[in-house]
Amino acid sequence: MTSFKTRYVSTRRGTPPTRLSEALTAGLAPDGGLFVPEWLPSLSLHEFDGATTLPAVAARLLRPFFAGDALAQQLDAICAEAFDFPAPLRALDANTWLLDLFHGPTAAFKDYGARFLAACLRRLHRGERPLTIVVATSGDTGAAVGGAFHGLPNLRVVILYPDGRVSPRQAHQLGAFGGNVRALRVAGSFDDCQALAKRALNDARLQREVPLSSANSISLGRWLPQMAYYAHAALGFLRERGEPLNFVVPTGNLGNALAALLARACGVPIGRVALATNANRTLPDFFAGGDYAPRTSVPTLANAMDVGAPSNFERLRWLIPDDDVLRTAIPAASVDDAAIRDIIVATWQRHGVAICPHTATGMHLRRSLDEAPWAVAATAHPAKFESIVEPLIGAKVEPPPALAALLVQPSRADALPNEYEALCNALRST
Ligand SMILES: *Cc1c(COP(=O)(O)O)cnc(C)c1O
Repeated sequence: MTSFKTRYVSTRRGTPPTRLSEALTAGLAPDGGLFVPEWLPSLSLHEFDGATTLPAVAARLLRPFFAGDALAQQLDAICAEAFDFPAPLRALDANTWLLDLFHGPTAAFKDYGARFLAACLRRLHRGERPLTIVVATSGDTGAAVGGAFHGLPNLRVVILYPDGRVSPRQAHQLGAFGGNVRALRVAGSFDDCQALAKRALNDARLQREVPLSSANSISLGRWLPQMAYYAHAALGFLRERGEPLNFVVPTGNLGNALAALLARACGVPIGRVALATNANRTLPDFFAGGDYAPRTSVPTLANAMDVGAPSNFERLRWLIPDDDVLRTAIPAASVDDAAIRDIIVATWQRHGVAICPHTATGMHLRRSLDEAPWAVAATAHPAKFESIVEPLIGAKVEPPPALAALLVQPSRADALPNEYEALCNALRST
């Protein structure tokens, strides 16, 4: 076992097997594909014996993925750092639970992956020139990455967001970190921000002056750790009730849902995994038998899931190559804005529980499923989307303490014209 090394290959098969540390730093595989493990580990139940806390389950589950890597010795410490807030199951009725993933510093599940990546990168970049993480965001990702890297030595974050196109609370969050986290409000769209970030990340000359890295959702360092909260919930459920728990996952780029499927493929006792999307129907149409047809995204109330070309689709195909198997094994449904509003109201009336618009897509799908036990992943706290949720339920939603603390900090973002040279200058002067 000690000499065993887990290596990572590209979904497009055009990259030689790579060590985990290298894959974590690179983000995207050099051939443009996504990194996946060369082999899937097979874990038996007894490998989790004695592991009851979230960080302990995470470390057992991720150990084979770190085998032979320079970071392997530090995996326990990395998990303790990244998973230092809980992901509890909350019962709604006899066979429905919420898996609350929003207890982190920025109140969305992306905190887990962003903090795990930060815990890895800060160990890989000791005593070198500072590394600057460039991240384009439509809201949640930038906050999670900013929060995760805030205050870490030798690491800096530059966030690009479309000026005037994120919610006021999201904008405040993005500018509230300060220190080594700088927010730039770009005179353009999210796509413009992403194009600027991509160009910088591919600019070898700029990077000789300013070493850059990415932290987007396809990074292994964000994807792999997301398995942990599904494993922790499913193992606890099985121990207590003797049956597997099924999950509904609100889905955009497919990273979170695919983490549940990956954990199951490694032997974690997870039942079925169902995918809920908003009105962006690329995945549900494919699951209903159509061709895979990426398209331009449409704006919805669940804006963190406004994705027309899910970037992790290549990983889904890698994990389950047979389309017929995929289509029969995974329930999927599209939930439009009217249905999102209805289920937010119904969940409040029936259970006295406020849910965010993303979680609402999952709750809607759960109601069309069977009597088996299902947990809906609650991907963000409703207080992050108070302008949508509060008028619907006619009540105030208090922000959780971490979010409230951020919202009273002063916030500052510098204006950036939508020009590449302006970004280069900002990166040199950060
Ligand atoms: C990012 C996000 C999603 C979608 O997750 P994917 O991994 O992209 O499928 C769902 N809900 C919230 C609140 C998010 O921030």
